[in-house]
Amino acid sequence: MKLGIAHAVSILGVEGHGVRIEVALLRGLPAFTIVGLPDAAVSESRERIRAAFAAAGISFPTARVTVNLSPADTPKSGTGFDLGIAVAIISAMSSWRVSENITWIGELGLDGSVRQVRGILPAALWAARRPDAHLVVPYGSRGEATLAQVHVSALWHLSQVAQDAGVDCAGVPERPEIDATGTVPAPLIPDLEDVRGQEEARRALEIAAAGGHHLLMTGSAGIGKSMLVGCLPGILPPLTTAEAVEVATIASAAGDFAGALSRIPPMSTPHHTASAIALIGGGTNPRPGAISRSHRGVLYLDELPEFPRSVLQALRQPMEEGYIDIHRAKHSVRFPSKFQLIGSANPCRCGMFYEDSLQCTCSPRERRDYFRRIGGPMLDRFDLNIVLHRLSRAQLASPSIGEPSRLVAERVYGAQERMVSRLESSGWTKNSEASPAWLRDNTVLPDRADDLINNVLVTGQLSMRSVAKILRVAWTLADLAGRESPAEEDIHEAFALRSRGVSHV
Ligand SMILES: [Zn+2]
Repeated sequence: MKLGIAHAVSILGVEGHGVRIEVALLRGLPAFTIVGLPDAAVSESRERIRAAFAAAGISFPTARVTVNLSPADTPKSGTGFDLGIAVAIISAMSSWRVSENITWIGELGLDGSVRQVRGILPAALWAARRPDAHLVVPYGSRGEATLAQVHVSALWHLSQVAQDAGVDCAGVPERPEIDATGTVPAPLIPDLEDVRGQEEARRALEIAAAGGHHLLMTGSAGIGKSMLVGCLPGILPPLTTAEAVEVATIASAAGDFAGALSRIPPMSTPHHTASAIALIGGGTNPRPGAISRSHRGVLYLDELPEFPRSVLQALRQPMEEGYIDIHRAKHSVRFPSKFQLIGSANPCRCGMFYEDSLQCTCSPRERRDYFRRIGGPMLDRFDLNIVLHRLSRAQLASPSIGEPSRLVAERVYGAQERMVSRLESSGWTKNSEASPAWLRDNTVLPDRADDLINNVLVTGQLSMRSVAKILRVAWTLADLAGRESPAEEDIHEAFALRSRGVSHV
């Protein structure tokens, strides 16, 4: 019997788990068996490996080939084991011994090419935690792999392995023209200078960007809500390196890594017809949903009342906890989901109520029911709640343009710096994260503002939870204005920003 061993990694959620591949070549009738992989994956993997050997001119062993992937209780998903299995087979059929420190990841094409798989970055981060680790990845993924501090080699064809092993094979094909250097074109982000009027909405967007507050915008169809939200990534504070790696790791696990770290917070805009799995994450081999792909960024739900109630309800727990656990029979995975929620809504189903109420064909009851679909607990999540109106003729005729995103971003960054230094000891970076206890202990208000807060609490007009939201926004207003603590006007503005919007529909 001849033995060969190689190492690979399985990605569950955004975590890597080591997998040992053992190959035994036994005398007897030629056969090829893989144990330790889910049934469907086994046959596909076998076919790819056989075809890749043939394409690379490597003669497949005429023996009983048994492959074992262990540990048996680690779920193994994806196609990234092909390369490791092929390496272990080549090792078993030659005197080539593979270092224990090397981890192999890659799918084999029928032509023998080593193809990219999802989850390279989480695999590389896993490898980086091991001493003297060396990762071998598909050539097109080398930029992604080097984001983790780990020794990386890249292959584009199986015959490269055969050459290293001293096994007969066809020549190595030319290196493919893949740009894997990790440069991505900057995304096109609309600029606030192209947004006319809408002073209140611009102000709300700036506050939301600075403090990470959830924002709901209501206004007639076509009034420019999506345009405003599109400007948000251009004024949000850039991600730190650690945050950018977190975001890239999720993108890699989702299979949509762009090729380089981006400092721009991600934005996800699922349509209201998206399934709960697309939004929350899941599937047999769980993948991150929109809430995780907007981790450290923005989740924009346009036409919020059109989302199924069950989907909106499913958002509540991950919003509360900052992550989502997805349970499967043999394991569970956790995806981070700290996102800022931006919602937009038409005032009614026909969309005309605010601007042309005479033309609105909805009954008062239908208008009420339209917003009820969002549900009280979800509406309650929004710290900022504003209404957009159509521009007047005078505004439309005015040649003035809006303040550019660059200037708004400067104020946002300034406010962000103030909150980071104030919240540093608590581990938060945004006012929206401050706990009720922190707010109670650290907010010193002018007397009249304090009386106002006490009054709404005593009379039961607002819950403690709502007051906490108002205080968080008031802190952001103070940070934007460069004040040490919220002033009376900040409390008034925070109240107004919370209570405008849909409540009067
Ligand atoms: Zn209507």
